[in-house]
Amino acid sequence: MTSTVTTTITFPYKRSLGPVLGQFMTALTHERLLGIRSGDRVLCPPSEWDPTTGAALGTDLVEVGPAGTVETWCWVPRPTEQHPHDRPFAFASIRLDGADTALLHTVDVAGPEAMAIGMRVAPRWRAERRGHITDIEAFVPGETAVPGGGAGAEEPVEMMGYEASITYETPIPRNVVRSELATKEGRFLGLRCPTCGRTYAGGRGYCPVDSIELLPEHEVDLPQRGVLTNYTIITPIQYPGQTETEPFARVHVLLDGTDVILAYQNLLDVPTDDVRIGMRVSAVWASPGEEEAGSGGWSSVQGLAGWMPTGEPDLDDPDLVNRIC
Ligand SMILES: [Zn+2]
Repeated sequence: MTSTVTTTITFPYKRSLGPVLGQFMTALTHERLLGIRSGDRVLCPPSEWDPTTGAALGTDLVEVGPAGTVETWCWVPRPTEQHPHDRPFAFASIRLDGADTALLHTVDVAGPEAMAIGMRVAPRWRAERRGHITDIEAFVPGETAVPGGGAGAEEPVEMMGYEASITYETPIPRNVVRSELATKEGRFLGLRCPTCGRTYAGGRGYCPVDSIELLPEHEVDLPQRGVLTNYTIITPIQYPGQTETEPFARVHVLLDGTDVILAYQNLLDVPTDDVRIGMRVSAVWASPGEEEAGSGGWSSVQGLAGWMPTGEPDLDDPDLVNRIC
């Protein structure tokens, strides 16, 4: 059986819209569609430069639509969470009346049999519009726009926020699963290479020195005490999603009697001014309800809340600082 872990990463960002798209997005909030003249053509969506010649187009926009003609389309039978609708729909290139180029949007119909090249569609507006292309909920068959009601933006729309997001699955090796099961029991699982005697943590599946597979029979329990060999004090920058507000330490811990270094661990209850190389520490496990918080840092050990000073005298060894991996 292969285990996997599902991860979602999301990058929020904002972009300035500029003089042309800003007008286009502002008009959307008023349920109006704008194109821009380029010679004897009208481009919609509008751009600041002619995509064919590169010529600057100014900022003089003209109203187009609201109805238009489907030039081409494709059916989306199983939308993902990143699609604009949670039920099957069509993406379509729609040439709005008065425009010479097509706008990409969606058409909300019951099935692909309701779609055809040349069909006439009109926008169905959202009730709440914020100056985004999704102010048009979808296009629907017919000649008449479906109003959303409400008022448009009082100020010009100049910025647009967006969240780029991707969800992916990573397979988890068998040894990592065994290691994580052990840490749920409050144990550190190590794997000792039968050839060179080196010990590894975190469920490593092989010895990189001897290139041999490490199996359950090579498992050993690692000590839960160690010494701090290196550290970084991090002053958190407040970006979206940041949960830390105060400076905090990430430390490297050399486990007693081994060559195992656990990197970038949480150090608990120590003011950042007091963090020192040689400090003796012991593991603190998260209680079941706190597991999420305990695994939230850069720790590779699930269920470990962090490390606490034991109060013993520091280890005085000038070579410790070089032990980071
Ligand atoms: Zn080895």
